[in-house]
Amino acid sequence: MGADIMMACLPQELLLKRRAEILHALCSGGSVEHLERVIDMLLAQGELGWEDCQNVLVPGRALYSNARQLLDLVYTKGADSCELFFNAVKQVLPEALGDAFFLSGCHSTLDYKEKPQRTSTEELLTQRPDLVLKLQGCIDGALRVLVESGHFSSTDCDGIQLPIYTPSQQARRLLDHVRSKGESASLVVLQYVQQSLESESSLEQTNPSLTKEFVKYQKKLRSSVSAQSRFLSTYGGTSHMPLDDIYTEVQMELPNNSADNYKSMGFEEIIGPVGSVNDDADTVLASGEAGSGKSTWLQRLHLLWSQGKALQDFLLLFPFSCRRLNSEQRDLSVQELLFQHCCWPDRGQEEIFQFILDHPHLVLFTFDGLDELKQSFADEHRICCPSQRAPVDVLLFNLIQGSLMKGVRKVVTSRPEAVGPALKKHLHKEIHLKGFSLSGIDCFVRKHHSDPNEAAKVLESLQANTALLGLCHSPVLCWIVSQCHKELLGCGEGSLQTITDVYLMILQHFFQHHSTVKSAMGVNWLQENLGTVLHLGQLAFEGISNSSYIFSVTDMETCGVTESDICMGFLIQSKDMSLANSKCYEFLHITLQCFLAALFAILSRNTGCSAISKLFELQEMKKKRLRGTCFGACLNSTNIPNIVKEHSTMAETPNLQITATFVSGLLSQRYQKLWVQCSSSVLVEKKTKQAEKCLSKGMQQHFRSIPQPVQGEKKSMHAMPEFVWLIKCIYEMQNSRLAKDAMSKLEAEHLKLTYCNIGPVECTALAYVLQHLKNPVGIQLDNNSVGDVGVEQLLPCMHICNSLYLRNNNITDEGIHKLIDKVIHLQNFQKIALFNNRLTDACTKHFSYLLKTRQNFLSLRLGNNNITAEGAKQLAEGLKFNRSLQYLGLWGNKIGNEGAEALANALQNSESIVWLSLVGNGVGSAGACAMSNIIRNSTSLEELWLTENCITRTGVESLTQALKHNHHVKSVW
Ligand code: ADP
Repeated sequence: MGADIMMACLPQELLLKRRAEILHALCSGGSVEHLERVIDMLLAQGELGWEDCQNVLVPGRALYSNARQLLDLVYTKGADSCELFFNAVKQVLPEALGDAFFLSGCHSTLDYKEKPQRTSTEELLTQRPDLVLKLQGCIDGALRVLVESGHFSSTDCDGIQLPIYTPSQQARRLLDHVRSKGESASLVVLQYVQQSLESESSLEQTNPSLTKEFVKYQKKLRSSVSAQSRFLSTYGGTSHMPLDDIYTEVQMELPNNSADNYKSMGFEEIIGPVGSVNDDADTVLASGEAGSGKSTWLQRLHLLWSQGKALQDFLLLFPFSCRRLNSEQRDLSVQELLFQHCCWPDRGQEEIFQFILDHPHLVLFTFDGLDELKQSFADEHRICCPSQRAPVDVLLFNLIQGSLMKGVRKVVTSRPEAVGPALKKHLHKEIHLKGFSLSGIDCFVRKHHSDPNEAAKVLESLQANTALLGLCHSPVLCWIVSQCHKELLGCGEGSLQTITDVYLMILQHFFQHHSTVKSAMGVNWLQENLGTVLHLGQLAFEGISNSSYIFSVTDMETCGVTESDICMGFLIQSKDMSLANSKCYEFLHITLQCFLAALFAILSRNTGCSAISKLFELQEMKKKRLRGTCFGACLNSTNIPNIVKEHSTMAETPNLQITATFVSGLLSQRYQKLWVQCSSSVLVEKKTKQAEKCLSKGMQQHFRSIPQPVQGEKKSMHAMPEFVWLIKCIYEMQNSRLAKDAMSKLEAEHLKLTYCNIGPVECTALAYVLQHLKNPVGIQLDNNSVGDVGVEQLLPCMHICNSLYLRNNNITDEGIHKLIDKVIHLQNFQKIALFNNRLTDACTKHFSYLLKTRQNFLSLRLGNNNITAEGAKQLAEGLKFNRSLQYLGLWGNKIGNEGAEALANALQNSESIVWLSLVGNGVGSAGACAMSNIIRNSTSLEELWLTENCITRTGVESLTQALKHNHHVKSVW
């Protein structure tokens, strides 16, 4: 259509004729932003009133419908309104409609209706478009001055900063809220914006390399990161919990720096050079099990950066969620990835991106949940040009390994299973997140419950049930337990034992919370909510089998998920910045998705026994054939929604394992009654048998892989990763017959479970199963995170343990106290190794008691702890009465001369000690002289280690003299 004809049209006619085109221009990007900006302008000019606005922007209604409503409204208001509307569109979308749209006689820029002497409230309205732009980069600051001046409460702020709003929407809400507070609040905002503009220009002057556009973008990005990270999503729906209020430090382990283990580290330290294994690499990996708090830790990093409290050397931070990147189907360039997925620069895109390219060390990227990316890390397809488009996974892998954007620091979180050698070689360092410490659990529960009495009751009931306390080291379970405290307190002591128990409790809690009848739920609570369980269960199950964690409205419809199912609170709206206007959902936590999937596997009549076996056959499947569709194919094909059919990607092993663990738990005899009214009893019975068979078969396969012993050595089983998982499944099932059966077939004398990620929960399961062993074994648990609670959980199997190896396990005197109380009565128990824990002198009185009491105890190794002369004196007290100890290791403590003298005194006539190490203990010549007495008098000593001390000539001479009188000693170091 030619421009001449257009000019001849009246504005209203033009609006009708080009309606489709206008709607497309306003809405096709999927974002409501364009429409809202047009409305801002019309509001500012007085063309629309507040009531009009409410009629146009109806929450929950489709974007196109809202836009149509606006068009209808301006049309009915007449020609002037239409003219102003066209001009607003021209300003918001300068290129969208072409010049032809703009009528002769129209104002080329917006003319605000000038009125002299406006009030601040009026000014807020007339300057609205401009204020929205300026405020979106400094919402935090504006809210702060409003709170400080007494106009806003923290509830007001929370309402504005909800993560579902984009920065510009937050700015609009702020302005609307200020309007309702009156004239003086409006004045505060106007003054704040003015001041912040002035300080912005002074920032540019002091930092000439930062252009105005860059500073604006930085503010917008900061504000958007802040909005996304302020609240914890698990508290969504009912109450919004600010991360600042609930965040509790998690334990961390830096693999190559054992001295720093379990200390919580600041973000600067984590990202900095300490513990680096590859100085050339830019990627720091934080790994941890599902629910260990990885996402929350990263969210904390984002929040502190956005608040200016951490990592301020990085001028820009781009946060990505791998879960959300999965839904990006297009090929993108790095620039598109950054701007479209994190924060869009309103102006100066090229200039900002050039700045990033020129200053990579000032930029930080974060990728949450690498394990949830559909493709696993690959190093094959290399690209190095930032403008080259590629699939998102290729971009991501190139960023991580540094061929793209070298020098930009990256922080990645992942579950350990997804981190293979290909990725490891590109890591600057790796830290392990180990969940809450005991004091962390205490602290979290107190933060969660504002009523201190309530918190005290929850903590009391945790103390009374150490199996449950063990579970609470995992932050997600600590959250569930705190969330369900009413159910927990009503449970009676000790009744919650397994992870399945805890998840069933949360299921019941959510239903109770939404029940219209607020009375206690009947025994049929599951049956009453069966529809919801099956709908959500199917969605979860399909998702797990296909590595899908974000669900569209269509996915949900296919599984029959209704509005009321959504209201139950298991699903939360996905915070995808790139999908601002199309609703998507995800489960509150991945483990909850696994749990609902497991419930579906059990209750659905469409899933048979084959689905159960598939869940347990992971290892085999991996070996024998490609996984993938086979799991989804266990379903009745008519029920498979598009998410499964479209991409038949591989199901992710860790999630299938968690699901199988829940299946085991739910098929426990204890719950059979619950299923009676919800499914076919015959089918559930069959599924139970099937699960038992799979577990038993899995264990046997494992035992068959034990190699024959080397001559002279014990028959030793080194656990494969799946062993601990199988043990956990048996524990969840609470099936002692199965445990007994499995253990009767194990013929090893030594069980090696080092580096197996064993925490308190795994210890509970291990003890449950291992207690059925026929013969005593050595249990080697070095380099795990057993902790004091774990030690307590191991007690039930100590009667079949002859040697316990717990090197590097975060154990304190408290744990030792409980352990010794138990093993003092067990004649089988003869050796213990506790190198590199957190022991002090306080534990030595217990060892002393053990030595006095047990005259067949052989080996005590306490290296690299915090034992001083006092502790050595305590040990010496016990040694005086002991006739059996052969090995005593105290390497790397601080016993000094005094301690060495006490030990020498106790051991000088020993007829049992064979090996003694006091390496690195600050022992001087006096100590060495005392040691020569053992050499001289003991009839059994063969090896004495005294290196890394401060022994001088006198000491050495005394030792050599003593050696002349002794024929047993083979070496003195
Ligand atoms: P992961 O990413 O390892 O699966 P999340 O970070 O999602 O684990 O944690 C699961 C839930 O546990 C969170 O939603 C939150 O409720 C709780 N949580 C985790 N870490 C912390 C923490 N450091 N402080 C407080 N709560 C936490």
